[in-house]
Amino acid sequence: MSDCIFCRIADGSIPSEIVYQDDDVVAFRDIHPVAPVHLLIVPRKHVANLLDLATDPDGSRVAEAVLRAVPRVAAAAGVDRTGFRLINNCGEDGGQTIGHVHFHLIGGRSLGEKLL
Ligand code: 5GP
Ligand code: ZN
Repeated sequence: MSDCIFCRIADGSIPSEIVYQDDDVVAFRDIHPVAPVHLLIVPRKHVANLLDLATDPDGSRVAEAVLRAVPRVAAAAGVDRTGFRLINNCGEDGGQTIGHVHFHLIGGRSLGEKLL
């Protein structure tokens, strides 16, 4: 989608600091990091949010690609041994601000402020 910022980052037409990419997934540094490591793992396919991913005909394949990318992204960011948090904000109450499904991978410091 040409008016979607994450589609444009994924296709390279908006610059970003990419740390990992494959045929299905791109991971790049968040522009407003909340921790020393704050990456966004984004499927290349435009899907609005986690609910749409779950019902998309391609959803299982895309979700698997995201899951398989996690250890590679964590290793590329240097947090595979120290740990990290993986977060999806879904919809308004979830605090989602960009309408292209994405997962925040956050680490590089002890993340004390747990909601649960
Ligand atoms: P959400 O609030 O939708 O869960 O997360 C969106 C994230 O995208 C935010 O953490 C925000 O800082 C990040 N973001 C928004 N615009 C850009 C951008 O143009 N480039 C990068 N690298 N990150 C962005
Ligand atoms: Zn998009």
